[in-house]
Amino acid sequence: QAKTLGTNKVLFYDPEEESRRHAKHTLLMAAEKGIARNEFILHYQPKVDMTDQRLIGVEALIRWNHPTLGLLYPADFSDALEHPCIGILMGEWVLCEALKQHEIWQNTQLAMSVNISPAHLLSEGFVENLNDLLLSTHSMGSKTLELEILESTTIGNIDQAVDVLEGCRNLGVNIALDDFGTGYASLSYLKKLPLDTLKIDKSFIKKLLSDGEDRSIVTCIVALSQAFGYNLIAEGVESLEHEQVLIDMGCRLGQGYYIAKPMSADSMTAWIQNMVKKPIH
Ligand code: C2E
Ligand code: MG
Ligand code: MG
Ligand code: MG
Repeated sequence: QAKTLGTNKVLFYDPEEESRRHAKHTLLMAAEKGIARNEFILHYQPKVDMTDQRLIGVEALIRWNHPTLGLLYPADFSDALEHPCIGILMGEWVLCEALKQHEIWQNTQLAMSVNISPAHLLSEGFVENLNDLLLSTHSMGSKTLELEILESTTIGNIDQAVDVLEGCRNLGVNIALDDFGTGYASLSYLKKLPLDTLKIDKSFIKKLLSDGEDRSIVTCIVALSQAFGYNLIAEGVESLEHEQVLIDMGCRLGQGYYIAKPMSADSMTAWIQNMVKKPIH
């Protein structure tokens, strides 16, 4: 079966494409139901000062307790997270849940980081909704909320992205550029974007000890962050050697499996309490 389209393009019925489309549709429907049924949960991963292991903040990471498939990770449902409608619903849930949890941990002075999808950040009324949410979780000093955005958010939408990010910062919310170094943003974007923090992508940390080029990239990112006056944090810290090399290079803040894996809110509470008890040397 073939359809002609225009003059010389022929579209064939592609069963694989069809089943992909069907799977995506099923996922989106299930995700929408999942929000209403409270199937999503947040895990939290500590961010520390690697020179003294002091806890400075946590990043909220979404997981899905799927009724039949078990615990799913963002990679398993990225189509839903990035969807212009369902992704925004999920993003709103994440912000709300993270702020509620942050209120519970408020006396710890931790910063709370939340990942924001491009469609969500650029959606109608994002700043107003964020403001309302911050007001309703009144005990939260917004200074300690940080939004993690991707370079891809800004491509083709730089003026709009700058407006939204400025709006967020006017609320006292910090902005971090996630997965830094892997996107396509040029340095002139860096100049335009109102940012507080760069997060070095974990792909550069992975081969930090073995690959001279990755080491050079990290050296450049450290210099860049210092020149622009940004905070800097490395993700994907998987060993003591990673920690030591990063500290030597001038990156004190880190996040990764060597420090702690993402964990449930209850485990995080226990982790925080344990941390407080430990003497800082
Ligand atoms: P990300 O924001 O860059 O988060 C870091 C990812 O690396 C997380 O994967 C985390 O579990 C993982 N990770 C942490 N430490 C290490 C390490 O030492 N080694 C390695 N190999 N990986 C480490 P996760 O939780 O599967 O999330 C993947 C991505 O999904 C996130 O990347 C983020 O882009 C997105 N995501 C997560 N939660 C949300 C959310 O609530 N909303 C949106 N829009 N996106 C989210
Ligand atoms: Mg992130
Ligand atoms: Mg990242
Ligand atoms: Mg990532």
